[in-house]
Amino acid sequence: MPHGVGFFATGDIATRLRMFGVAVHRTDYDGHARLCAVGDGVPVAWDEVRQWPEVEAVQPIAVPFKLVSRAFHPHPTLISVGRCTIGSDQLALMAGPCSIEGEEQAFTIAAAVARSGASVMRGGAYKPRTSPYSFQGLGEEGLRIMRRAADAHGLAVVSEVMDTQQVALVARYADILQVGARNMQNYSLLKEVGHAQKPVLLKRGLAATIEEWLMSAEHIMSNGNSQVILCERGIRTFETYTRNTLDLNAIPVVKELSHLPVIVDPSHGTGIRNKVAPMARAAVAAGADGLIIEVHHDPDHALSDGAQSLYPVQFDELVDQIRMIATAIGRRV
Ligand code: PEP
Ligand code: MN
Repeated sequence: MPHGVGFFATGDIATRLRMFGVAVHRTDYDGHARLCAVGDGVPVAWDEVRQWPEVEAVQPIAVPFKLVSRAFHPHPTLISVGRCTIGSDQLALMAGPCSIEGEEQAFTIAAAVARSGASVMRGGAYKPRTSPYSFQGLGEEGLRIMRRAADAHGLAVVSEVMDTQQVALVARYADILQVGARNMQNYSLLKEVGHAQKPVLLKRGLAATIEEWLMSAEHIMSNGNSQVILCERGIRTFETYTRNTLDLNAIPVVKELSHLPVIVDPSHGTGIRNKVAPMARAAVAAGADGLIIEVHHDPDHALSDGAQSLYPVQFDELVDQIRMIATAIGRRV
């Protein structure tokens, strides 16, 4: 059984702890250094450690996700991207097409979502498609176009990385690396984005429990990247009237268990255009730190996910509604 212990400490405690054979991670909280020692069954002489003069407290972390847990880091983690701080009282609004399809499409949508108040542009250049015959994305050319469109309108960029070999390339263009639902348990990929110097948006797997999802975030954090944004995007259930079942329970559950920000994707969560706004409003009311929404100016001709994409005018109306809900719960857009 791996164990985790957080405690207040200074000096070379980390080095001395490592001599027991554990990995040591550090966070700072309330002016104290907190160290988390993790190891697979490695015996640590905790009674001895407790006696070290610099040690204020030793506390076991009972949950399997140690670094992700509130026991390790009680305050919310804030992640700065462009002009928004994800996890703060200001909601992070990410919007854009499912896939980047070309210059005109990307610039048109970037202009629209920026005008409505989004601060991050979404868009896939590497697309995980159910069918190998569906549009697979424009690859690096798509990233190049999206970067220029986003820059022209002061937006940051979030884009999906599908495998380990794409991480460095996507990180050159994007501000946030998206790990898709289908890759939530691709541990090689989690390790690779764990080594990246960019925030990671980790989508919940199609059939993943909340604990499995948090354990995937733990993989990223244990590899050195503490900038993880969790994204609820709906799970598979027996229900067929919607594409997925958006699990809004996950928001308060994750908020209690973890210090990481949680955003919601009502586009993939419902799969149906006129269901996106109600679920986006509900997500904000339930305490989500932000939204990621598909928007397309000509969804009937979109190369992917047109049926769930909002028209720019619908996104604009939604942001106005979100603004009112945010005010009611002490947050802002
Ligand atoms: C996407 O955001 O474009 C996407 C493919 O989402 P998911 O991984 O949640 O299906
Ligand atoms: Mn999509």
